[in-house]
Amino acid sequence: MEKQQAEKHIKELRERLEEYGHHYYVLDKPLVSDAEYDALMQELLKLEEEHPEFFSEDSPTVRVGGEPLPYFEKVEHRIPMLSLGNAFSDTDLRDFDRRVKQLVGGDVSYSCELKIDGLAVSLTYENGRFVRGATRGDGTVGEDITANLKTIPTIPLRLSEPVTIEVRGEAYMPKGSFEALNQVKEQAGEEKFANPRNAAAGSLRQLNPKLAAKRNLSIFVYAIGHIEGKEIDSHLKGLAYLHELGFRVNNESKHCSDIDEVIAYTEEWVEKRASLPYDIDGIVIKVDRLDQQKEMGFTAKSPRWATAFKFPAEEVVTKLIDIELSIGRTGVVTPTAILSPVTVAGTTVKRASLHNEDLIREKDLKLGDSVVIKKAGDIIPEVVNVLAELRDGSERDFKMPTHCPACESELVRLEGEVALRCINPQCPAQIREGLIHFVSRNAMNIDGLGEKVISQLFEHDLVRDVADIYKLKRDELLQLERMGEKSVDNLLEAIEKTKDNSLERLLFGLGIRFVGAKAAKTLAMEFDTIYKLKDASEEELVAVNEIGEKMAASIHRYFSTQKVVELIEELDSLGVNLVYKGPKAPEESDMTDSPFAGKTVVLTGKLEQMTRGEAKEKIESLGGKVTGSVSKKTDLVIAGEEAGSKRTKAEELNIEIWDEAKLVEVVSERR
Ligand code: NAD
Repeated sequence: MEKQQAEKHIKELRERLEEYGHHYYVLDKPLVSDAEYDALMQELLKLEEEHPEFFSEDSPTVRVGGEPLPYFEKVEHRIPMLSLGNAFSDTDLRDFDRRVKQLVGGDVSYSCELKIDGLAVSLTYENGRFVRGATRGDGTVGEDITANLKTIPTIPLRLSEPVTIEVRGEAYMPKGSFEALNQVKEQAGEEKFANPRNAAAGSLRQLNPKLAAKRNLSIFVYAIGHIEGKEIDSHLKGLAYLHELGFRVNNESKHCSDIDEVIAYTEEWVEKRASLPYDIDGIVIKVDRLDQQKEMGFTAKSPRWATAFKFPAEEVVTKLIDIELSIGRTGVVTPTAILSPVTVAGTTVKRASLHNEDLIREKDLKLGDSVVIKKAGDIIPEVVNVLAELRDGSERDFKMPTHCPACESELVRLEGEVALRCINPQCPAQIREGLIHFVSRNAMNIDGLGEKVISQLFEHDLVRDVADIYKLKRDELLQLERMGEKSVDNLLEAIEKTKDNSLERLLFGLGIRFVGAKAAKTLAMEFDTIYKLKDASEEELVAVNEIGEKMAASIHRYFSTQKVVELIEELDSLGVNLVYKGPKAPEESDMTDSPFAGKTVVLTGKLEQMTRGEAKEKIESLGGKVTGSVSKKTDLVIAGEEAGSKRTKAEELNIEIWDEAKLVEVVSERR
């Protein structure tokens, strides 16, 4: 990056981080996630290292926390309360270990502690009595919050020995209290706290101790800042002494003799952190011997003898390398983000769906951008937003093509749809996707015939439609890469076996628009053979329970195509079963006396005493089928208030009509 450009970028990053820091430290209302803040901070650190000429004492990279609020008394810390350096990976931890060993002679061992996500406080005791409590503030000057801290039951007001001591700890709000507090806030229509850390900070940095007392806060004390008249030689011994004095000390701390043990401890807590009743955002690793700590000293912002390992975030920042387009089996063009590989919530993410062109525009994505990624529902990676402030001018706009990348026919946007589509039925990408769907688990379920083999078969021109799968020959398959005799025999056997599948698998596999696995089953049960289904009118289709008008039209359209008729005949001649083989619908025998048994019922007009859904449920539970439109197949119409055309049609067709009162009467008789 050019010098001038770097200077401008450094300035922008500092301003941005300052604004975020102010909202986080001073106002207790973060504007962005910690991951986003950390990524910007790392970028600034890198630039400042590359360009030391732009060093500034005011940079957020050297400043700790935020300035104290004006309405609190100010407290000058006797010993500064600093921040901690960060480690995000095992490599960072090993680098830290290397740096430590370069700075100190002798054996080094570490203490590992949970990094409680709360608010750092300093507590001062004179002759064993609590006299002052303060926030970290900007590291040098904090806020006097003694009155609020006195309301925390786990802060002792008197110690077991009359020592004069200043200790540091993390005041926090347990997860349970945080949830309860936010619930109350929600009910009162007040703004909720973003996380337990901000809730704890907000509770302690306000002027009413009564309010603080209600917030159910607690504390873990983790260090001695200053002590008079006592020699302690290790950090862990210090913690044990704090416990003896009556402080609440977290008992998960562990002595680790080398960095491998430290790494094992961090890994253990990545797994276990969710089970704790309080939030932790990492592990703090400290050199245990205090003489070695002294030898190493501090940078302007943090001690050299400690680091904070940050847990892999649920949100991480990475680069958008490219946007790839894929054509689905229905021709929909889906853009996919190709990302620089990154670990999110424990797994490596390289791709994320961008769904459609509008989303790319809404998020203002450019190729080369830094983007925030998270896993939605902890499974599917998603691009949350772009970090436009990290742009350096090398990013490129993404242009959606006008033509299908697979068949070059023009892409269209159908009315009312956000997606772009390739509408060429011969498009090879669509055909390939259709074949992959046909062999998939919920469809024909052909063992050993996954996406890779289908692609191979397709590339070698061995399959062009689903019938071709049943025409594959042994010697053809043996020509393919990675296809030995055994795998070919197994594949042919698996294909052969699926010829006996019950009809619903084939129906779903054909990929008729709107027909999912469940509808395929209903259709197979109702019509028994594919030939009967093929000949069904739209009216007959709609009369089937769960088949709506849109699906009926789509099925009808599908089977009216000459190519489809030929395909079915071909499948038939190849020996593929076209008949439903599963269990029949429950016999109506146990409902023979029900007035709805085996009847097709249509509900229309407004019902007063029950909802449409309830009425439908009752009729179905009594053996009836509820459909959407009136046809010759309809046996009964229930007409509520203001029933319109359906009632008229029922009258024309001479179909029995009930009013709501009759329905209620019959239903209640049968309860
Ligand atoms: P830090 O959180 O990285 O570490 C220092 C703090 O750790 C100490 O002050 C102390 O409060 C705490 N701590 C908890 N347990 C400890 C233990 N056992 N021993 C020692 N310390 C312990 O540093 P920081 O300066 O407080 O905050 C920086 C972090 O805050 C950033 O990395 C970022 O994640 C977050 N932040 C977020 C935003 C935002 O807008 N989201 C803004 C500013 C800062």
